[in-house]
Amino acid sequence: MGAYPLVGSGAGRNDGHGMSRIEITRREDLVAVCPHCEAELPEIYVNKPRGPFGIGQGYLFLCPTCRKVLGAGAQ
Ligand SMILES: [Zn+2]
Repeated sequence: MGAYPLVGSGAGRNDGHGMSRIEITRREDLVAVCPHCEAELPEIYVNKPRGPFGIGQGYLFLCPTCRKVLGAGAQ
């Protein structure tokens, strides 16, 4: 056939994996943008706030421009 297989809703047989494949393209030339202040993010800040007993609760990723939290990660 040559066409791309349709994914989902029983359109033909699955070709190997049942999951849809997502193409991942590396684009180091693009700079991420803060969703809050829309400043470009050539870097982000990582903050590790201390819990009440000095126990780390994970990491916070901050926008260096507006300092809003972009995301959090476990340690
Ligand atoms: Zn920002």
